Amino acid sequence: MSLVQDVENFRNYFHSKEKRRQTFTSWVFEDDVECNADALAEAGFIYVGTKDEPDSTQCFVCKKTLDGWEAEDNPWSEHLKHQKDCPFAALQKSQSKLTVQEYIEAETECLKKVINSAREQDLKDHQKWYKILVSQEKYAMQNMLTERSSKII
Ligand SMILES: [Zn+2]
Repeated sequence: MSLVQDVENFRNYFHSKEKRRQTFTSWVFEDDVECNADALAEAGFIYVGTKDEPDSTQCFVCKKTLDGWEAEDNPWSEHLKHQKDCPFAALQKSQSKLTVQEYIEAETECLKKVINSAREQDLKDHQKWYKILVSQEKYAMQNMLTERSSKII
């Protein structure tokens, strides 16, 4: 995913718990347990479940994927437990309970995290391409050298 897309997704999901909630087209537990779809959306999760992993969720900021949820799990504490450096998990309370100042600070910290992760991924992709190009170049050089030496002989 590109940085622009990452930032756009981030904005959509940061400003609307409802948009995160809407990703839960199905959920393994009813609404009356602690680990319900609404509580997960509030704690920063979107639904990424599949047929094989029907309870797979992902944080829209740190991108940590969590599954194996239990009905009595608290999404906020599980989020922080599994991803200590996630600025969204660090909130530990609903965005609606933040002051304007806290909200702006949280948005800044979360956006930084999203941008840094995208840059790290870009760097990894570049390094991968660099290695491929270098090995192709080496191969071409070897072929050229082999061709030349066979001509000399
Ligand atoms: Zn997170």
